Amino acid sequence: MIPPTRQNPVLRFAPSPNGLLHLGHALSALLNADMAAALGGRLLLRMEDIDVTRCTPEFEHAIYEDLAWLGLDWERPVRRQSEHFDDYRRALETLIARGLAYPAFLTRGEVKARVAAAEADGRSWPRDPDGAPHYPADERDLSDAERRCRIDAGTRHAWRLDMRRAMKEYAEALFWMETGDGETGEIAADPAAWGDVVLWRSDAPSSYHLSVTVDDAGQGITHVVRGLDLFHATSVHRLLQHLLDLPASVYHHHRLILGPDGRKLSKSEGDTGLAVLRGQGLTSADIRRLVGL
Ligand code: GLU
Repeated sequence: MIPPTRQNPVLRFAPSPNGLLHLGHALSALLNADMAAALGGRLLLRMEDIDVTRCTPEFEHAIYEDLAWLGLDWERPVRRQSEHFDDYRRALETLIARGLAYPAFLTRGEVKARVAAAEADGRSWPRDPDGAPHYPADERDLSDAERRCRIDAGTRHAWRLDMRRAMKEYAEALFWMETGDGETGEIAADPAAWGDVVLWRSDAPSSYHLSVTVDDAGQGITHVVRGLDLFHATSVHRLLQHLLDLPASVYHHHRLILGPDGRKLSKSEGDTGLAVLRGQGLTSADIRRLVGL
């Protein structure tokens, strides 16, 4: 199924205020602004701050300063995901009611130990496109009574998508429209490659996949412009759109800005930080040139 194209272009830049912006964010933000202008569309800014332990008002403020310095303008009010946990909870409840989500009790350490034991035994363990091991398949087969008992006992748990059921019962072949710097055209989604993704974390409300899908639909985003590092995650977002009966966007995954070591920039790399470059007297025109725009 190919999503239909929607009218009235709306784009968004969606940083997480858990660190300072660097040149990679500048490319993403400027591309969003340029494409919004070219399409005659709106540009929204969204704070992806579901991880309230790592996101701070100081980082959020620094993002506003950096973006204003880059010459960007965006609509107010800015949506903060931390103010919309109810929206994500409703989406989770929908999936639970359809038998597509289950409570997952293993900690990260316990999963790691299972994987290590299997691999020490010479058995291979499936991994997602980011290299993380899939959640153990047998954990989705706990009985309802057992789950209830553990939840009632206060056992910490996440909620995961039952990918096998989702694929079997609900997914027809899914595609998305891609216009970015990698593969383009109709891309066949492959959500199964991700295994039982987390929908609701045990240590924080919601998850990246659930909140980004709910928000992009809720805010009427027609074009998602973001880095190629999120290309494969789009398969999960496309499946969640399908399961939750939400409209899909067109996707544009742009090239990444790499550091001298050939790796993606991280928020701790000071010398590519926008605030540092601004302090050195660079202008937004210099930043455009540096990121190849
Ligand atoms: N919040 C994500 C990040 O800062 C971006 C998510 C997205 O654009 O879909 O990497």
